[in-house]
Amino acid sequence: MTETNLWQWTAGEALALPPLEDRRQAEIAVVGGGYAGLSAALHLAERGREVVLLEAGGIGAGAAGRNGGQVIPGLKQDPEAVERIWGPGRGIRAAAFAGAAPDLVFELIARHRIACDAVRGGWLQPAAAPGHLPTLERRVAQWARLGASLRLLSRAEVAERLGTDAYHGALFDFRGGSLHPLKFARGLARAAMAAGARLFCRSPVRKIDRSGDGWRLVTPRGELRCGVLVCCTNAYSGPPVPEVSRCILPLWSVQIASEPQPAAVRERIVRDGICASDTRRLLTYFRFDAEGRFVIGGRGAVGERGRQRAFAALRRRARALFPDLEPSWRFAWGGLVALTENRLPQLAEPEPGLLLAFGYNGRGVALATATGRVLADRLTGTEPADLPLPVLGRPRFWPHAPLLRWSLPLAGPVAGWVERLRPAGGR
Ligand SMILES: Cc1cc2nc3c(=O)[nH]c(=O)nc-3n(C[C@H](O)[C@H](O)[C@H](O)COP(=O)(O)OP(=O)(O)OC[C@H]3O[C@@H](n4cnc5c(N)ncnc54)[C@H](O)[C@@H]3O)c2cc1C
Repeated sequence: MTETNLWQWTAGEALALPPLEDRRQAEIAVVGGGYAGLSAALHLAERGREVVLLEAGGIGAGAAGRNGGQVIPGLKQDPEAVERIWGPGRGIRAAAFAGAAPDLVFELIARHRIACDAVRGGWLQPAAAPGHLPTLERRVAQWARLGASLRLLSRAEVAERLGTDAYHGALFDFRGGSLHPLKFARGLARAAMAAGARLFCRSPVRKIDRSGDGWRLVTPRGELRCGVLVCCTNAYSGPPVPEVSRCILPLWSVQIASEPQPAAVRERIVRDGICASDTRRLLTYFRFDAEGRFVIGGRGAVGERGRQRAFAALRRRARALFPDLEPSWRFAWGGLVALTENRLPQLAEPEPGLLLAFGYNGRGVALATATGRVLADRLTGTEPADLPLPVLGRPRFWPHAPLLRWSLPLAGPVAGWVERLRPAGGR
């Protein structure tokens, strides 16, 4: 299949933003025009801070313009696991913060009138095996303790909503929803500019130096000096931001999308504006877009040939789950997800005037947007102890990440065999 990104195809005109072509100064520089960087720039500019954002490609060139558009509440780890890792008080606050992250997304969309096909139809996590149901039950109980009443759906209810009997039950989280990911990113960019932030595209930061009390950022045609540097480059981090690269495993996730499906199909499957990501270790996620195209995604693979195999596997998965779908597959694309060792995001302040935020483990639509606001809070005087996420002195290094990166071409097929033998649950 020729690779064409559905979101690029349907987002309309790109924002005409210039590259950085001169020497400038700013109070705060944000590197990365994805959700975290844009949300940080927006919230900082709204509070009267002088912000310049530098993006290597166009707005949403990274995962923000490629993802599934599922606005998923919570962290990749369940609330009790977060408590075990980050401690009782901090863990609960972080879980509650991530559970409420979709509220911020839908609030920003309403406040800034961002036209991005937003639907708050809830997020469904269907159980791919009967053995996954206890994990979902525990998840519902843990969220209930935090005041969020999620529901467990029976096998029959899931079959009714999704139009497939492939699943054994599901967790329904009313807090979630979906949107057009690239339109949302561009809307955030417009809002940030309206609030006074300066945004530059096609301005990859090639070099970062300490300069006096601040920083000097070098792009191919310009230079920016700033007092504070915020790096939101996530899975697309390269050599200029080595601290991040050493802490994450960038993994491909791929999607395919059909031509608009007939109304009769849309009435039967994945109904009521729902979006879903199942419980497999190598999860499958799916939904309809605003024009009725069926969009399904899952694990990617390394290299062009690997991606083509992954697209073919998605077509087979779609047929197995929903035999009534018209197989008019027209779009296929992929992007990088940043995994961290403990599956939790990281916010780090390795030295004064430097903030790093990354590692949303495939849940960044809501979480990275909300983390952008946390970055703004930190830079406008909130003490680390009062933030909902812990601020690490040093980002948490993942010692095996380089080896895992190297073995990724092998890891894909091995994980596929393991998945077939024993599909893991509860992710
Ligand atoms: C295929 C796919 C499907 C996904 N589906 C979902 C989903 O349905 N729901 C969900 O919640 N999450 C999903 N995610 C994850 C989500 O998209 C990410 O967590 C989120 O986009 C992270 O936001 P970010 O701003 O940190 O990073 P990004 O959006 O990746 O932005 C980082 C930006 O930094 C820029 N950059 C990098 N280096 C430099 C440099 N040196 N100079 C200047 N700019 C630089 C990049 O060009 C990029 O635009 C998915 C991801 C992928 C890839």
